[in-house]
Amino acid sequence: MTARRGDDAAREFGGALGAGLIITVSHALMLYLWLAWRFHDGAVFYPAGLSDMGSFVGRVWEQVVAHATPSWRTFAIYWTFLVVQGLLSAFLPGLKVKGLPIPSRGGERLVYRCNGISAWWLTLVGVAGLHFSGIFPLQTIYEQFGSFMIAAMVTANAIAVAVYVGARLSGNAERSSSNILHDFFMGARLNPRIGELDLKMWAEIRVSWLTLFLLTASCAAHQYAAHGRVSGPMIFMIVAHFLYANACMKGEEGIPTTWDFFREKWGWMLIFWNLAGVPFVYSFNSMYIASRPPFEHSLPYTVFCFALLCGAYYVWDTSNSQRIYFRMQLNGSYVKRRTFPQLPWRTLENPRHLDTAAGSKLLIDGWWRYARKPNYTADALMALSWGLICGFEYFLPYFYLVFFVIMILHRARRDIERCKRKYGADWDRYVEEVPYLFIPRVY
Ligand code: NDP
Repeated sequence: MTARRGDDAAREFGGALGAGLIITVSHALMLYLWLAWRFHDGAVFYPAGLSDMGSFVGRVWEQVVAHATPSWRTFAIYWTFLVVQGLLSAFLPGLKVKGLPIPSRGGERLVYRCNGISAWWLTLVGVAGLHFSGIFPLQTIYEQFGSFMIAAMVTANAIAVAVYVGARLSGNAERSSSNILHDFFMGARLNPRIGELDLKMWAEIRVSWLTLFLLTASCAAHQYAAHGRVSGPMIFMIVAHFLYANACMKGEEGIPTTWDFFREKWGWMLIFWNLAGVPFVYSFNSMYIASRPPFEHSLPYTVFCFALLCGAYYVWDTSNSQRIYFRMQLNGSYVKRRTFPQLPWRTLENPRHLDTAAGSKLLIDGWWRYARKPNYTADALMALSWGLICGFEYFLPYFYLVFFVIMILHRARRDIERCKRKYGADWDRYVEEVPYLFIPRVY
């Protein structure tokens, strides 16, 4: 008994240590990437030696203070954006969709208001209006990128603390451990809401991807203002980030069925990465292009990059749709939508599937007959195309690819472990039926 209590305490201590490390590294990483972009052309940089450590830290500190300290105006702009997205999310009419039964709440199914697509287009029209009327030229975001990034990081930390403390004080904390840091990191509540506003949906769908697209749009606006034209690689990044953001909005009704929604609590990890990490870290390819004189690649190379992006996007969009809509059709929540673009082969008629003792059915048709994670492979190929369009000179444009592959491998491992536990022998049958994980006939 005492030994088991000791094991639990050791595990929780390890978890808290890991949480502290990830929190520290996430902040340091964002600052490092910003410094690499702003002062080193996108190259890796480090102290000249041990004796240089002190002045290296001093230099970095001075650069951050001088070039990335947010003003109250920066905070005001960023918070206005957050509040507007919150209001649109809470009040625009939209499709009402039931999420999956939540195991930790006795199978309760939350209802989500899916109005992301109208919020997305309204925001684009509003931002274009502000830009072209001169009220808020979009390139302002590019010019003050560091300050906006820090404002987002500070805001994310403040929200994470407020949500944690709020859950504790109100007695609404769910599935708590005995370690405060671990719970702060993983979250105290599953789906905190303010009236009609689901905060997790707001952060994960609206804030994250909209911010990413607006950062890239601000890079294009800067390039146009500075050089009188928008280059091919910049157009590529606009298309890439438009497709990604648009896909999350147009298929929003499928998102409440994902693990993040019915299992992952809204803690520091999700809050920080949704508000700050994802949009700012993923935008460095656009920043890299915008910060140098416009460059072009040969026509065949450019066509290759676009073909890779569009091909990978097609597989990513349709594989996610096939899996999500298959499950939604089974549980009666599928609604045919006309959100743009609805791609051929997004739904499957009477697809082959495996019945399982756990009750859920596993799809073994469409893209899911070739690999068990076709959507991850396609996503990684999109990440590769974002790097390729920037050329091969520096590491910065490939950071996202490396980061994404590591993150998605970890996610795949975690998901497979969970599925093995859930499906038992049926999972082995599934693996026999679909033997490849990412790439058919290879791995
Ligand atoms: P998946 O789309 O891989 O879904 C995993 C879940 O789907 C499993 O837990 C299982 O849940 C169910 N499932 C697995 N195989 C099948 C099958 N054959 N048939 C039916 N259901 C199945 O996971 P994610 O939510 O991780 O990813 C969704 C998308 O988001 C991906 O394209 C990914 O690349 C992208 N993504 C992007 C990120 C980024 O930062 N850019 C971050 C994270 C994800 P069940 O218990 O219901 O069976």
